[in-house]
Amino acid sequence: MQENDPLVFKYADIRDQGGLNVKLAPAPAAYADAFDSPETLRKVKVELDFSVGGDSILLEGRVYAEMELFCSRCGDPLARAFEDSFDEVYPDSLEYIDTREVIRETVALLAPIKVLCSQACKGRCLVCGGNRNHKACGCQTQWAGSFEALKNLKLDKPDKPGKKNSK
Ligand SMILES: [Zn+2]
Ligand SMILES: [Zn+2]
Repeated sequence: MQENDPLVFKYADIRDQGGLNVKLAPAPAAYADAFDSPETLRKVKVELDFSVGGDSILLEGRVYAEMELFCSRCGDPLARAFEDSFDEVYPDSLEYIDTREVIRETVALLAPIKVLCSQACKGRCLVCGGNRNHKACGCQTQWAGSFEALKNLKLDKPDKPGKKNSK
């Protein structure tokens, strides 16, 4: 069971070889429960570099993940890659070195809480809901900014029915 998982290593094997460097690509599905949507994670790559110390083995790990996220401002899908590293020390009392949990934690923490398609993202129009990066809709959305604007607002414009609540 344990020894069949590619992320679980026999302590003695690594010690006897004097260390180990492996590159793996675990199936993203294994980490799906760490994300709101299982499709978020597109690709995972892991590099594990074990070095043997006196009575322990040091692991320096690197995790790389490609994700499909949504812009916090306009909601458009966007693909981003993230990378992080971690260190672990395993005492020689262990029979196996199980890296599954530390990799899982690292992958789960890679996704940012907020992500923007671009720093200049204009977001969505509060009036018509359109993505303002794609098209300038021309809606009046500056009203909240200035009291002067409110005072000068002309209320004698004819209504344009059926436009305001279309999504
Ligand atoms: Zn955006
Ligand atoms: Zn608009």
